[in-house]
Amino acid sequence: MNAIGTLGSHCALQVLKGAKDEGFKTILICERRREGLYRRFRFIDKRILVDDYRFEYSFSENVQNELHDNNCILVPHGTYISSMRIEEIEGIRIPFFGNRWILRWEADRMLKERLMREAGLNIPRSISIDELDGSSNGNGNGNGNGNGNDKANSLVIAKLHGAAGGKGYFLAWDKESFMTQYNRLVSKGIVKSIDDLYIQEYVLGVPVYLQYFYSPLSKDLELLGIDRRYESNVDAIGRIPALQQEHSGIDEISYNVIGNSPLVLRESLLDEVYSMGERFVYAAERLVKPGMIGPFCIEGVYDQDGRFVAFEFSARIVAGTNLYVNGSPYSYLLYDEPMSMGRRIAREIKIAIGSNELDKVVT
Ligand code: AMP
Repeated sequence: MNAIGTLGSHCALQVLKGAKDEGFKTILICERRREGLYRRFRFIDKRILVDDYRFEYSFSENVQNELHDNNCILVPHGTYISSMRIEEIEGIRIPFFGNRWILRWEADRMLKERLMREAGLNIPRSISIDELDGSSNGNGNGNGNGNGNDKANSLVIAKLHGAAGGKGYFLAWDKESFMTQYNRLVSKGIVKSIDDLYIQEYVLGVPVYLQYFYSPLSKDLELLGIDRRYESNVDAIGRIPALQQEHSGIDEISYNVIGNSPLVLRESLLDEVYSMGERFVYAAERLVKPGMIGPFCIEGVYDQDGRFVAFEFSARIVAGTNLYVNGSPYSYLLYDEPMSMGRRIAREIKIAIGSNELDKVVT
């Protein structure tokens, strides 16, 4: 029998609950300090305790041997990307559910932009420092697709490469405001040069996270849920009137994800949601063999005209799917049973084992 395993964080509970519901043995690689939490859940059959989630501890020879002996298939999630280097993740010798090579495309902003462009997604313009000329962000000259909005605004968002949870991001409207905030990050040792930042047009709209699952077995794309993030302090600032904001001394915004809220879209927007997901699957097939397998998420905002601008993707399960341990409005339209993303992963593995096609869903 196979086991399904993952690191104890992010969406581990949902993944292992789903695996148990589908009849798998479940394994958690667990930091000692988190053991108390995970001991509460009876669907976790085995905990492998490690000092922390850096590669040398979480995937030491001993841990990998133990996973191997248990015939374990790993489910990668955001904590793998935030705790390990991409070469380390790629080198783990335990099979991953999904395409492990695409995680590099998620972690590297340039590759990420290439894949999104290949998928024909409407993405924000990326802006070079020279375009921040003091009055505008260089409308029309950026090297991204642009959101195609004639009423382009003059705000830009500067992001750290591979930043987890939007830490260190800032908004600027000209070179001076950019340099002030850039210098602050330099003095704190967070960045060393401008090259450490990726600057993008800021797109005004409401954030939406689209949770997909692609099955290479049935070749079907499923929309299993939608969420929005609850981020501090950016979601807190709107609770203070503008005058008080100005005098509050708040000089930093952060997008630290605290939780997620459920969301359903206007039904008329769903057709485009499916076609964006399909274009993403085709693009991944062309650029990152063997293509998209299993869960992924397209992340962006809907502007005032109901147009979607995508600023990110995750090429693996996202934590926003934790909302739907018992299924979502969208999963219920597809399955007459509670179908979380974690359970859907386990179901795909079970079907693949049954039809002797496991090689199509693991790398
Ligand atoms: P990210 O790390 O790219 O997911 O971004 C963290 C947060 O920053 C997102 O949840 C959005 O709220 C915001 N954000 C990122 N990029 C943009 C953009 N181009 N325009 C507007 N908001 C953005």
